[in-house]
Amino acid sequence: MTENRKGLDEKEARERLKRIEAFALDQDGTTYLENQPFPWTLQFLDGLRKRGIKYLFLSNNSSKSTAKHVEKLAGLGIDVSEDQVLHSGQVTLEYLKTLPGREKIYLMAVPEVEEEYRAAGFDVDAEDPNYVVLAYDLTFTFEKLEKACRYVRRGVPFFATHHDATWMIGPGEFLPDVGALAAAVTAATGVEAEFLGKPSGVTVEALLRRLGVEKDRVALVGDRLDTDIRMGWDQGILTFLVLSGKTKAEEVEGSPWKPTFVVERTVDILDYLE
Ligand SMILES: [Mg+2]
Repeated sequence: MTENRKGLDEKEARERLKRIEAFALDQDGTTYLENQPFPWTLQFLDGLRKRGIKYLFLSNNSSKSTAKHVEKLAGLGIDVSEDQVLHSGQVTLEYLKTLPGREKIYLMAVPEVEEEYRAAGFDVDAEDPNYVVLAYDLTFTFEKLEKACRYVRRGVPFFATHHDATWMIGPGEFLPDVGALAAAVTAATGVEAEFLGKPSGVTVEALLRRLGVEKDRVALVGDRLDTDIRMGWDQGILTFLVLSGKTKAEEVEGSPWKPTFVVERTVDILDYLE
């Protein structure tokens, strides 16, 4: 664990706010809830545009292609280009492109995400893969698990798009997420995956590259302390915790990862930018 993890002090944070050029926004619990945009979401995005501030949507949901993410947002009345969506499957894809022998992988993913990888030049079911890659695979089977375990046991590096073990689909209702599927491979092989979505540094690099800004010119907005806020804390990036989703205000004190600012709703962030 490095010693560069830290929060920003109030003075430094206020100084940074004046220079913010871009926002990375969480989706669920921040922009919408249970497939309903918050009533203030469009006003917030409009406020950013009026101030000339760029934004993108950052998501630990690798069960959909980028095109489908864009489509989903459009269905909620939020118009974005593919450049403005960065999901953990894409973060992983971009990272793999930097590795040697990356074209030969064994990918566990839904068909449309497989297609995204193929289009980017990957053989997603190579005979002799150099990497095992797990996305949010809603078509996960025993056969896929068995194959992945065989490669991982042979020493093939194992990546997973993100760490979340569950995905909340309604009040008190959860689906198993990538962390749970990765745990099955780990239980059978003793090998832990390297997780690349939020809160990893790999995701930060991908989003800075995408936005074309330096770390001190971007702010992260999200509703989860262990992903959205942790990523900012670990990387020294300014964060806003919104209380419209998973986290209650009283949970902040006991958290090892502190947000720079806490607001009820995304639209309240505009007051910090006047
Ligand atoms: Mg969220």
